[in-house]
Amino acid sequence: MSEHLLELKNIGKRFGGLVALDAVSLAIKPGEIHCLAGENGSGKSTIIKIMAGVYQPSDGEILIDGKPVSGMTPAQSVQHGIQVIYQDFSLFGNLTVAENLALNTLLLEGKRTVNWRRVRELAEKALARLGVTMDLDADVETLPTSGKQIVAIARAVMADARLIIMDEPTTALTRHEVDALFRIVRDIQAQGIAVLFVSHKMREMLEISERLTVLRNGKKVAEGPIGDFDEPAITRAMTGHDLTDQ
Ligand code: ADP
Ligand code: MG
Repeated sequence: MSEHLLELKNIGKRFGGLVALDAVSLAIKPGEIHCLAGENGSGKSTIIKIMAGVYQPSDGEILIDGKPVSGMTPAQSVQHGIQVIYQDFSLFGNLTVAENLALNTLLLEGKRTVNWRRVRELAEKALARLGVTMDLDADVETLPTSGKQIVAIARAVMADARLIIMDEPTTALTRHEVDALFRIVRDIQAQGIAVLFVSHKMREMLEISERLTVLRNGKKVAEGPIGDFDEPAITRAMTGHDLTDQ
């Protein structure tokens, strides 16, 4: 068994003439909380989409559990346990919490009729793994952002995630909601799930992550255990200059 759950080696991605990623390497261990940082346009979302099988890299190699995979599709990425929570959460607003949580399982089972008691059981189980309770009958569109996010994380956990990638998950959250999210992140980590936390907020990365990778203009400019970094060091890596230069 490989030390790494997911490894990107020298990944490049071009969109026409634009180089979005240039020889980026990034490795994620099972159960680690890894932060991917960078300013807008640095290539964070492009890396996520490559991990999710949405984009094919122009160069480089992807390894899962140490084995090279090529031409990975979104379905294959999910089968390998990679789940992405995008900023819009990709939920069904007009379905309830329980329905959103149970949908994948029900689709996989392929039954023609829906057993609503089972739907509720599955949903409750998923939320219990995050240590939260919620009104299962609420339409998801009526939930606050933090509630939608919890449903999205619970759905990822239910899909047997081994790595949950969160793209800028704290953007619309209050400090109190960020605390609640971080508690959930630590809870799912304790269940062996790795989290890739994508952010440009320095305090949050210093608080939650164990390892940090910084991108600037599509290149990896820093990487290491979080203890090697402080706010000035991250700023320098993200922007290429000290705050005092500005
Ligand atoms: P981030 O998520 O760090 O803000 P992105 O990965 O979204 O950065 O973008 C990196 C660069 O790639 C940007 O210059 C962006 O404009 C470009 N880019 C991203 N996706 C596409 C696309 N589908 N077509 C063309 N250019 C793209
Ligand atoms: Mg982005």
